[in-house]
Amino acid sequence: MKKGKTFIICGPSGVGKGTVVAKLLASDPALYFSVSATTRAPRAGEENGVHYHFLTREKFEEWIAAGDFLEHAEYVGNLYGTPRIYVDQAMEQGRDVLLDIEIQGAAQVREKRPDVVRIYVAPPSWEELERRLVGRGTEDMEKVRSRLARGKEEFSAAKDFDYLVINDTVDHAVEELQAIMLAEHCRPVERTALITQ
Ligand code: ADP
Ligand code: 5GP
Repeated sequence: MKKGKTFIICGPSGVGKGTVVAKLLASDPALYFSVSATTRAPRAGEENGVHYHFLTREKFEEWIAAGDFLEHAEYVGNLYGTPRIYVDQAMEQGRDVLLDIEIQGAAQVREKRPDVVRIYVAPPSWEELERRLVGRGTEDMEKVRSRLARGKEEFSAAKDFDYLVINDTVDHAVEELQAIMLAEHCRPVERTALITQ
């Protein structure tokens, strides 16, 4: 059986990660999205257990102490983490896993699991990123500014990723992400194991 692979989707806040991930999931029911835990307050329309597991800081720290996270990090004042167990279960079932996580978390996963594929999603321009972040209307201007500053600071790390996708149009970005995922399953190291001897 084909073994599942883990794909990390990283990129500045507002670039469209959630949007492209939703389209990828809609196009392939076998794909597994890892629902993160966070101490951030839910936005309008966000459901507990669907978009995030919304936790208090105390509860989040309990999960850390119990070793329940594959990775965790602080991002602009809140904690975010990937529960380990669901990722492992999905991969054992042969499903590909998508992690929408920030850059420190991506580095932690890479360290523990060198075979993960890291994809950086960039905006066509910083002006467009700001338009998207402001247009989403979910953060006040102070938080928008912190998120933009964080995005610009982290951009130098993009060149060390395995792939860079520019989210100009959603359809184009989704097409490139699907192509990357398909190509990663054609690597000889896993393909040869599938050939009957
Ligand atoms: P992220 O998950 O990276 O923070 P979102 O998926 O929430 O970003 O997208 C931020 C905003 O940008 C949303 O309002 C979304 O509809 C919009 N958006 C996403 N991709 C595009 C695109 N290619 N062109 C224009 N707007 C986009
Ligand atoms: P947001 O608050 O906009 O949903 O997410 C803010 C940032 O946290 C985004 O860059 C997102 O990718 C990242 N993030 C979401 N879940 C996790 C997680 O489990 N771990 C880490 N390290 N980052 C996460």
